Amino acid sequence: TKQTLANIHEHEDQLNAYVTVNDEGALAQAQAIDAAGIDPNNLFSGVPVALKDNLTTKGLLTTASSKILANFTPVYDADVVERLQAAGAITIGKTNLDEFAMGASTETSFYGTTRNPWDTTKVPGGSSGGSAATVAAGDVLASLGSDTGGSIRQPAAFNGIVGLKPTYGRISRWGLIAFASSLDQIGPMTANVTDAAAMLQVLAGRDERDATSSSQPVPDYVAGLTGDIKGLKIGVPKEFLADGIDAGVRDQIRSAVKQLEQLGAKVDEVSLPHSTHGIQAYYILAPSEASSNLQRFDGIRYGYRTSDAKNLEELYVKTRSEGFGDEVKRRIMLGTFALSAGAFDAFFMKAAKIRTLIIEDFKRVFADYDLIVGPTAPTPAFGIGEETKDPMTMYMNDMLTVPANLAGLPSISVPAGLVDGLPVGLQIIGQAFDETRVLNAAYAFE
Ligand code: GLN
Repeated sequence: TKQTLANIHEHEDQLNAYVTVNDEGALAQAQAIDAAGIDPNNLFSGVPVALKDNLTTKGLLTTASSKILANFTPVYDADVVERLQAAGAITIGKTNLDEFAMGASTETSFYGTTRNPWDTTKVPGGSSGGSAATVAAGDVLASLGSDTGGSIRQPAAFNGIVGLKPTYGRISRWGLIAFASSLDQIGPMTANVTDAAAMLQVLAGRDERDATSSSQPVPDYVAGLTGDIKGLKIGVPKEFLADGIDAGVRDQIRSAVKQLEQLGAKVDEVSLPHSTHGIQAYYILAPSEASSNLQRFDGIRYGYRTSDAKNLEELYVKTRSEGFGDEVKRRIMLGTFALSAGAFDAFFMKAAKIRTLIIEDFKRVFADYDLIVGPTAPTPAFGIGEETKDPMTMYMNDMLTVPANLAGLPSISVPAGLVDGLPVGLQIIGQAFDETRVLNAAYAFE
């Protein structure tokens, strides 16, 4: 733990991967474990893990990288934090993210941009950019991220690490600061697939405090890593290798697909025709849910409060005007509009219908195939400041990742080589609750 803290501090000037490094708390946890003795039955006994700063930690600042929560110290731990602690893990710190997880570059954080350890002029992706960068820098073996439209997988791809978004409901969201509740999932970000499987083992399972968490039994994910994918049927959607995808990324993914074939998988081109509308549906549905979820930040219950309000109305307006950043305000406005009486049918309902069509596309392909593979992101990491001027450019980062969120399916990003010296990710999508096959294919490939 001491060495990990030293490594983190050595990199922090360059990377800015953390909002809070938990120096004292982590050492106290480590001392307690030392005193009790490492428990061989507790897989993560004494292992430092970094947590995205939108996961509540009892007694430890939790900001979601927003000014509106800059003074917020939760009174309870998220379910995943409880589970990690029960497994012996040490909370080494809280990692930087796009404000409220809204973004694809970690540039909307109130605490400044995180930098990509592969090239510090590049973004680490987002929104779980800090969690990805600290693993890529070699500070920690594992971190947690959250993924609403790609926020675990795209930064994993940009940093050359493994990132898993499990099936919706596989991991409890209790204690995750909500962005879009029907899409949000927590998941592990690790240096390799075995560690991702071991993390999922600890994190998965029913939690009474999250009604959407599943009571399906949790299989032994590590035992499922046989490396044998002979006869596995894999579909490559033609939409995932279409024109909008960087040519270098396409080449890299084509050779990854060849590698899967050499390992004995049977690969065909398939089609997810409605996936091309995923971005449009997502950027109505996610902001709509966000506009509702973010109503709780009113300056009364917790967080930042404006200093000079003359009445209640002004207190709300000034607190939110001063406390939220531009991207969060944009989403609240978009969502409030899409849910308003006059716009509901034309926007929210239409997006919900597209979501159903995307779910049906997946069902059709999964009737004949075990897994779907393609790139994680359309490009490798881009330059800091390069995509901040036009929100639409930034939103296009998510075109290949949002379909799995809209359908609630498990999806992993695993490193698939370099393009111009920067990492690229292979995305593997599976059927609901089939994390075992997703992880095993990634394991065979890595
Ligand atoms: N980049 C997407 C967005 O800005 C996804 C973010 C996420 O998964 N949290 O909404």
